[in-house]
Amino acid sequence: MIWIPIAWTEYTATLNGTILKLVPCEGCGIEYVYVLEREGEGFCNSYYLLNEIGAAEQAKQDAIENLESYLMHDFDPVPCPVCGHYQRYMFPKLYDGGPPLSQIAWLVLVVACCFDAVVCAYWIVLYLQGHSAHVLQRLALTGALLIPLGLALAVLNAAARSRVRCFDPNTEDQQTRIARGRSRAVTRAEFEAKRDREGRAASSQAESSVSTPEYLPQARFRESHRTSHRLLRAESVF
Ligand SMILES: [Zn+2]
Repeated sequence: MIWIPIAWTEYTATLNGTILKLVPCEGCGIEYVYVLEREGEGFCNSYYLLNEIGAAEQAKQDAIENLESYLMHDFDPVPCPVCGHYQRYMFPKLYDGGPPLSQIAWLVLVVACCFDAVVCAYWIVLYLQGHSAHVLQRLALTGALLIPLGLALAVLNAAARSRVRCFDPNTEDQQTRIARGRSRAVTRAEFEAKRDREGRAASSQAESSVSTPEYLPQARFRESHRTSHRLLRAESVF
């Protein structure tokens, strides 16, 4: 057995960012704005101190790319602050997966199907080796058991799909949804009025013209680095 010492530095970069999300409401037609916050992480190793700066930069770059991807493509299920309507594309994030009992039943059936399939394969191998009538009988029994198990699984899947199709978070009390929306979002008109007031205030303080602020998107980054060193770790290669 030969032990080879391996030394490396692990760089981890974590970035937090926010972006404004503009949502057109399917219920009342207004547009509203909320702040989406996400965290991106990047990792990179430098072996034997050969690429310390490059690894740190790569970790940071990966964190930036991950964060930008989250900010651009992800969303929060925020209802409209005026009518409380949840938008259709937000439904999957609100669906809790259905009753726990059906989830457990689905898991049990999947495990049972897999186990029965393995047993079937075992009897098939035995039968091919010996052509025993006893083995053939066991093979038929375990094979036949797959039919009710598969049917039960299909029924559960159909019921789950039906629950997803029928799921509608907009059946919740409207005032509750509006309050939830107001806690996270404002209408576009309110947002732009606030931005204009802030712009005029900044203009009067600086006694200089203020350019019209960009509306969307805006991202802010806060950066933090965690660096860990694990030197002279020995790993067996034989
Ligand atoms: Zn609305």
